[in-house]
Amino acid sequence: MIVRVLGSAAGGGVPQWNCGCPNCAAVRRGERPRRLQSSLAVSADGDRWLLLNVSPDIAEQIEAHPPLQPRGVRGTPISGMLLTDANVDHLGGLVTLRQAGAHRFVVRSSAIVREIATAQPAFAQFSQPPHRWLAADDGVLAGADGDPVGSGLEVRAVPVPGLTPGFAGRAAVRGAVTAYAIRAGGGPTVLFAPVFAAVDDTLAAEIAAADVAFIDGSFFTDDEMLATGAGDKRATSLGHAPLGGPDGTLARIGTRHGRCFATHINNTNPILDPASSAATELAAHGVDVASDGLVLTL
Ligand SMILES: [Zn+2]
Ligand SMILES: [Zn+2]
Repeated sequence: MIVRVLGSAAGGGVPQWNCGCPNCAAVRRGERPRRLQSSLAVSADGDRWLLLNVSPDIAEQIEAHPPLQPRGVRGTPISGMLLTDANVDHLGGLVTLRQAGAHRFVVRSSAIVREIATAQPAFAQFSQPPHRWLAADDGVLAGADGDPVGSGLEVRAVPVPGLTPGFAGRAAVRGAVTAYAIRAGGGPTVLFAPVFAAVDDTLAAEIAAADVAFIDGSFFTDDEMLATGAGDKRATSLGHAPLGGPDGTLARIGTRHGRCFATHINNTNPILDPASSAATELAAHGVDVASDGLVLTL
């Protein structure tokens, strides 16, 4: 299986257009790499690709990854997408993909995410022919004709604690957020969990069992947005468990896990500064910072 990190930032990216925080400023000075909004592309064969979330940066991400580019006059090797939730930075790129023409995408998300998303006219077309939008709430996903799932990739949906998006009321309902465990041909498992409000026992077990896990690295502390002056909301009120602190993700997952990457990193997060104590603490738990363009072959 091949995994490509298309983006590793939370909504807005790094730098974010209206942000002059130290992390955004460091990228603008050329001291650190830019980060697009988080997404992965995975493939069993390098031929057909499945997107894990579709960020508003998808057009730029396709141009940065030649295997995702068309192989003829029109077309795409992207066959489908899995959505973790209905936040705009995780599915907004569907708007860019609306010129699909006769190409058929198979979209998968929980039933409630499908309901929330397809209530928006911009996304509703992906539940209409030639596309299909299938509910994937829990357990192993069956393949649909022409998409990568069932033809090499095995995907398992794992409901995790989380909230519906702000525009849908930030409700803590089952299915609001889903993680996906993916493997090819019985090989190593990759867990994609870029959003979660807490690490419950199920998620802790999935992170421990995965050969490679991508976990929610949005914030290091709960009050990070307030402390940096970047916003008035706490991490937990936005549905993200902070990495640090006695109740944080790092304390919860310990160091007994396979290769692990923090992704969906908000531009306020101190782990983006390699010299910070937060970055040191992250490394001490065996967790790396995901980077755009990273390619893993498992
Ligand atoms: Zn997000
Ligand atoms: Zn910033």
